[in-house]
Amino acid sequence: MTVPLAALPSYPRTEPVVSITRRSFCQSIVGAAVAGFAASRLKAAEEAKRNFPPGRYVDVHTHIGTIPADKTEPLTASDLLRWMDGNDIAQAWVLPLVSPEAYPNPVSTEYVLAETQPYRDRLIPFCVIDPRNSFYGGKNLAGQIKRYVDAGAKGFGEHKVGLPLADPRNLAVYEACQSVGIPILIHIDEVRNTDEPGLPALKNVLSSFPKVNVVGHGPGTWASISGDANDLGGYPKGGVKPGGALDALLDEFPNFYLDLSAGSGANAISRDPKFGREFIIRHKDRIMFGTDYLTVGQPIPQQEVLRGLDLPEDVQHVVFRDNARRLVGLI
Ligand SMILES: [Zn+2]
Repeated sequence: MTVPLAALPSYPRTEPVVSITRRSFCQSIVGAAVAGFAASRLKAAEEAKRNFPPGRYVDVHTHIGTIPADKTEPLTASDLLRWMDGNDIAQAWVLPLVSPEAYPNPVSTEYVLAETQPYRDRLIPFCVIDPRNSFYGGKNLAGQIKRYVDAGAKGFGEHKVGLPLADPRNLAVYEACQSVGIPILIHIDEVRNTDEPGLPALKNVLSSFPKVNVVGHGPGTWASISGDANDLGGYPKGGVKPGGALDALLDEFPNFYLDLSAGSGANAISRDPKFGREFIIRHKDRIMFGTDYLTVGQPIPQQEVLRGLDLPEDVQHVVFRDNARRLVGLI
């Protein structure tokens, strides 16, 4: 069962809440030169009506808990919210990590559901199950995902398991997500959810499970922005060669999305800013802002990289927040 958003307490904001008065609204639409600005005010007014918390971004990739090996104190939901307040982030997907290859300290779905419970207006929990778990084979997998969804989970991930992307146990996960009707966020590199250059296994998954929205993340995903990607584990620098697997997959499969988080997402867009800007504009309805924030004080490059690209206002709206909300059914 999910608790109605209105019934939940709001985390106190440290930033002023933007309010749209009739006067400021009217002023904003005077003059065609400010048409884009007016559109953005209209959008803000629409969002206020829907009771979305204020903030320019929705972050599709954050974590809580004691994740890094050298940390003993967990990053709490309050820590995450404070950081969001300081970075103009309205809402965030909060992702558990359970596979032994994912990170030193597992963070369970149950923990994420419990910690986000008081703040569900801003923190959007996901669920994850390692498909090698002996208890969740066969029908139990979809059944358990459904139970997590009933408890508030809006998606599956971060799926970061030490198996080939097309391993039968992984296929069962995509099938279960498709049957329950939630998106899946997948980390791809040379150890987790492995594939070949050109991402042929991912292509098969996207065509075999057309009703599950797949969000690609990690070095293997983002190296494939370039036509000359020959390994899936690094952070390649320099010019992007057209003809990469990402362009081809985004063109062919409407169920494929990308998450700009982590070093991999920031690097892929900034290594060749002209290509990165055009790539985002070309696929604006399928690319989402994200950071991979997981420890207090962690530097986050995404906002500066995106500011440097000077994206059109309409592209900023969808990439910074609307796509993320749409994918989890908030709009
Ligand atoms: Zn992550």
